[in-house]
Amino acid sequence: MNMNKNTSGASPWLVPSIDLQAQYRSLKPEIDAAVARVIEGGVYVLGPFVEQFEADLARYCGVRHAVATNSGTSALHLSLLAAGVGAGDEVITVPFTFVATVSAVLYVGARPVFVDIEPDYHCLDVTKVEAALTPRTRAIVPVHLYGQTIDMEPLLEIARRHRLVVIEDACQAHGAEDRGRRAGSMGDIGCFSFYPAKNLGAFGEGGAAVTDNPQCAETMRLLRSWGEKTRYEHTLKGFNYRMDAIQGAVLGVKLRHLNAWTDARRRHAATYRRLLADTPARAPMERPGSRHVYTVYAVRLAQRDVWRARLREAQIETGVHYPIPVHLQPAYRDLGYAEGDFPVSEAAAREVLSLPLFPEMTDGQIEEVARALQIPVAAKADA
Ligand SMILES: *Cc1c(COP(=O)(O)O)cnc(C)c1O
Repeated sequence: MNMNKNTSGASPWLVPSIDLQAQYRSLKPEIDAAVARVIEGGVYVLGPFVEQFEADLARYCGVRHAVATNSGTSALHLSLLAAGVGAGDEVITVPFTFVATVSAVLYVGARPVFVDIEPDYHCLDVTKVEAALTPRTRAIVPVHLYGQTIDMEPLLEIARRHRLVVIEDACQAHGAEDRGRRAGSMGDIGCFSFYPAKNLGAFGEGGAAVTDNPQCAETMRLLRSWGEKTRYEHTLKGFNYRMDAIQGAVLGVKLRHLNAWTDARRRHAATYRRLLADTPARAPMERPGSRHVYTVYAVRLAQRDVWRARLREAQIETGVHYPIPVHLQPAYRDLGYAEGDFPVSEAAAREVLSLPLFPEMTDGQIEEVARALQIPVAAKADA
């Protein structure tokens, strides 16, 4: 068998950025049995499989409660509501994130206040947080971007001193650790997404919020399902943010494999780091004390778009997370920010390139990517 060939048959790429069919094939008997049990059981929304997954996820994160939702965005929205964030409040977060982080803040009527990222790990620059605080600041939403946690202790210290709520956007960081503590377990509430491309993905949409706080958990549980305390008695104005039973069953199976997948991702990242050393791509950095889970393997490259085109020619699929920081998105112009406000985020948006990385990847595929990132001999001779 050609090690470099994607065997799914569905992808035109020599190296796709992710191969969800390969993951399904590796678990087919377990997944098919779990899905069949849901279908035969006749409970298709929430129910015992979702409850079991919530218990397993809470244990995995090292917290007491997990509330499963229909997306990571819903989990963020419920977290902000449960924490009492609302109109007139300001919420500190980063502009270099997926837009959902910011949208959730707007859903509750609060105002997102951006703080730039630091250049090495692409996460919130904690040293810039205090300058952004005002008497209206209510919460901080750090984003554990790409699968690496921010340095939480200094941030939690600022939050304690100013009595601020911390909601971790761990939507890319399932299983990531900061000094041995799991992503999502360090702030007041942590939010996960199980969108298929995340490092723990459902067969559709899904999300969860985790917390040690029983009141927050209870509020989120109520709000997730129309604020319904008992049948047709609505004690809160809620939403339909419930998780499907099939997603709970699939995620319950997949969670048991997450640690092995993370180990594989970290092995591939180490192989990349070695092979990229003689290319212009700067490999992602690991913060001392943190365990990066490489949901996204983003390198930095000057001339990113030139390299991206070259990789495409070599049939290597790449992504850009993210090409436009939220403060420069057309839809968010009314936040009042301008180009130049967050130079570190803006530079990252110009230079990051996400290379293929998934647990089932072969060393041969990683070698193909690294080869395509070599400076051509002709160009070297010209220089
Ligand atoms: C994916 C993601 C979300 C949103 O999750 P959905 O499940 O797609 O709603 C929020 N924040 C970050 C950082 C994400 O990567």
